[in-house]
Amino acid sequence: MKNEKQATIILGGGLTGLSAAYHGGYTVYEGEEQIGGTCISPTVDGYTFDLGIHVLHTKNKYVLRLLQDKLGVNLKTQTRKAWIYSSGKLTRYPFQANTFGLPVPLVKSCLISFVENYCKQKNNKNSEYYNYEQWLIATFGEAIAKHFMIPYSEKFWTVHPRQITTEWLGTRIPLPSLEEVIEGALADQKKGFGPNATFRYPRKSGISAIPDEFHKSGIHVINNKKAVKIDLYNKEVFFFDGTKVNYEVLISTIPLPELTKLTSAPKDIAMESRRLKYNSILCVNIGINNDKLNDNHWIYYHEKKYSFFRISFLKNFASSLTPRGKSSITAEISYSKKKPIDKKNIGDTVVKDLIHAKVLTKKDKIDLIDVRDIPYGYVIYDYKRVECLKKLKKYFESHSILCAGRYGNWEYQWMDDAILDGKKVAAEAKGIEKVARKQKSRHAKL
Ligand SMILES: Cc1cc2nc3c(=O)[nH]c(=O)nc-3n(C[C@H](O)[C@H](O)[C@H](O)COP(=O)(O)OP(=O)(O)OC[C@H]3O[C@@H](n4cnc5c(N)ncnc54)[C@H](O)[C@@H]3O)c2cc1C
Repeated sequence: MKNEKQATIILGGGLTGLSAAYHGGYTVYEGEEQIGGTCISPTVDGYTFDLGIHVLHTKNKYVLRLLQDKLGVNLKTQTRKAWIYSSGKLTRYPFQANTFGLPVPLVKSCLISFVENYCKQKNNKNSEYYNYEQWLIATFGEAIAKHFMIPYSEKFWTVHPRQITTEWLGTRIPLPSLEEVIEGALADQKKGFGPNATFRYPRKSGISAIPDEFHKSGIHVINNKKAVKIDLYNKEVFFFDGTKVNYEVLISTIPLPELTKLTSAPKDIAMESRRLKYNSILCVNIGINNDKLNDNHWIYYHEKKYSFFRISFLKNFASSLTPRGKSSITAEISYSKKKPIDKKNIGDTVVKDLIHAKVLTKKDKIDLIDVRDIPYGYVIYDYKRVECLKKLKKYFESHSILCAGRYGNWEYQWMDDAILDGKKVAAEAKGIEKVARKQKSRHAKL
């Protein structure tokens, strides 16, 4: 068995691992043939799809400088065109700021309960929310919560919002003012809300342009190195191809439950990792022999009768994603152990739903149906998460394993967070290496 020895190594070549390699100069061991993790953009019959459309909406100057100036990712800035389909009508995203065009009784109830809540909140500034459902009702009122927020959340997260906390919110949910809610009920309000009101997207190659440019910068990545076992005591990673590598520090960006399975961690640690909850995303990619469907970026669907929670129109992100004269759609479907789906005929189901939602017509010729699974989609912030994480990270750190990234840190991270997390963990590894070197030279002198 071939054995290599390195001080710090990285497991996983998604954005976190690539960024850790860029900033720390370490080798990445990636299990797949391709780098990028959830930021890959496979091309099939001339159609390129992301694993669920990925847009860069960072405001972080360091990340923007790194990607655009240092790595040379060719990004185009765009103004988001996002909609919500409900009651047979399209309204602008976000729902809470754009009820104009919905049935009048519905708009009226949304406005009344928003105003009622607004007055309540004004008099009660110190309110605490025990779960996401409570926060939704307290922030937007019963009607907005009932008509969009709660059903959409349940469809997306696959668990009811009362089962999740509010720790992940940050700036993710737009908070329009009272004036904006009223304006958006009376007229078609074109104002952009939320962190991705404008975003950047690569002109070519889909979102995989980002990991590709990291790779081209000269970092050392070894592909087809799926870790199958980690010996925590001898500090060795064993790979699927029969090779192994020793480490002093292991940066792990693979999902925490997978990392735990690779080790002989004690039962209580294994149990904690099984408590971590997440949803999975099935991406149904459709190639259509139709030059132009519309000029939108994406549409959300909260109603149960549609299989998907969101559909995206790839051509409107970059014309390079579709062959000339064609269009394409990615439909994203959430599932989990709690809410399984039948994957067998999912392509036909999605096409039927697209016709039902008047996105396609029966006359549209379908060129291609390509289904991609993302088993680890979004981390679910349930009540056990923080406690589980504390125990798991403490255990792995005691074995010189630093967990990082969206699934290593078990957080709702975006691409910029993953890049920054990679930078941070590389610096941590450098710090540990420095202390170890000092200790070694002290021992040598004794
Ligand atoms: C559906 C979806 C849509 C998203 N949309 C956006 C968006 O619009 N904007 C945005 O900013 N962010 C978006 N994100 C988030 C973004 O994709 C992530 O934050 C980021 O890509 C995470 O990178 P990572 O390196 O932490 O994890 P990953 O990309 O998962 O990388 C982990 C790597 O580890 C490898 N690996 C796993 N097991 C092993 C093993 N045993 N041995 C070796 N290697 C292994 C995997 O193959 C993978 O390459 C989205 C995520 C999803 C799932």
